[in-house]
Amino acid sequence: MSNVMEIIRSFSKTCPCGVKHETTVGDVRIASGLVNSVGAILRENSFSDNILLVADKDTLKASEGIVESLKGFNISYKIYDEIRVAEMKHVDELEKMIKDKDISVLSVGTGSVNDPCRLACARADKKLAIFATAPSMDGFASYSSPIVDNGFKASYPAKSPEVIIGDTKILANSPTYLKSAGFGDMIAKYVALIDWQISHLLIGEYYCERVAKLTRDALDTLVEMADKVTVNDEETAGKIFESLLMTGIGMSFTQNSRPASGCEHIISHLLECVELRDGIIPNFHGEDIGVCTLEMLKLYGELAKREGITAKRENIDWEDVYSFYGEMADDVRKLNNPTITDKVDPVALEENWQKIRDIINSVPSYEECKAAMIKAGCKITVSDIGKDEKLFSDCVKYSPYMRYRLTLLRLLTMIEM
Ligand SMILES: [Zn+2]
Ligand SMILES: [Zn+2]
Repeated sequence: MSNVMEIIRSFSKTCPCGVKHETTVGDVRIASGLVNSVGAILRENSFSDNILLVADKDTLKASEGIVESLKGFNISYKIYDEIRVAEMKHVDELEKMIKDKDISVLSVGTGSVNDPCRLACARADKKLAIFATAPSMDGFASYSSPIVDNGFKASYPAKSPEVIIGDTKILANSPTYLKSAGFGDMIAKYVALIDWQISHLLIGEYYCERVAKLTRDALDTLVEMADKVTVNDEETAGKIFESLLMTGIGMSFTQNSRPASGCEHIISHLLECVELRDGIIPNFHGEDIGVCTLEMLKLYGELAKREGITAKRENIDWEDVYSFYGEMADDVRKLNNPTITDKVDPVALEENWQKIRDIINSVPSYEECKAAMIKAGCKITVSDIGKDEKLFSDCVKYSPYMRYRLTLLRLLTMIEM
């Protein structure tokens, strides 16, 4: 039994936070050479004899031996040439292939292959196994799917896979830039944990100490291994994969993305929306996320130096916000009537400032995280990820209005600068 399954089981009783944390992930295997046992694992988990194997050309090539391991199954295929952006047309197509049939799905790849499968399987109520080909992001165990529809990217409630398989040989062999991107997606959890705790402190948002600790432990383990991330080493690749899975499972435990995503993910999401609108293929998720995280750690670190603050009711120029959002303005307007900071009392913000500083200081500093990211081969500057500085700073400024969610970045409008 993998470490991950042990942890899932340890959460099965009602938690002190009052929630019974559950996930539909029922079997997680991480070991060397598992590509040859995929069929056996699916049988053990009562998958149908009919399998739809979904992959792209690269992920199928990386998983040599997988088709042979499925001897005895009736396999049908959906192999994409390349799938960089998961779109609703992919979901619809897959759903049509499995609906009302006795069939289970095996997704071979990472985010953009797995995400449409997750949603199609949820809609058609089919079993799903994910065979991971690179430790590039934290969505493997996730229950939701980020999908682009009509040029807009949104997160759809979908389902977690019943089975997750990571062959450490294949993970270790994956391209370095994907492993570094996975590291960037993980380091973001420091900002996520800060934002989640501040929201809990100021407006009483639900928070679970145990789930937060699960994420934090997975992250700290990974940061200690930063210098091994780009090396072709099976043990390290397995550990990175395990950390990514833990945070995905943390999200399914809380049924929201709080344990894994803070203001940095929202900034990156807005950047992506702008790029999709302009017909630009976005970078790998974790590359942009890593840079957004560093920028936020720098900003939060600066704020934490202030011994006290003067807080006020905010006075936002909403017309300016909506004009930035253009076509998306209607959605943004709905998310801000009321707006999340209506719940924040300026006096409480002032009175809790020391606690907020302590929360910020409970995670490694900007300098420490930057050093770890350099070791892990991550991109670290706005120009490394090919963004225009003005666009980047606009996305930092306007992104908090894309969500009805409290982050420290969203609170800046209430703090006298
Ligand atoms: Zn809990
Ligand atoms: Zn992420």
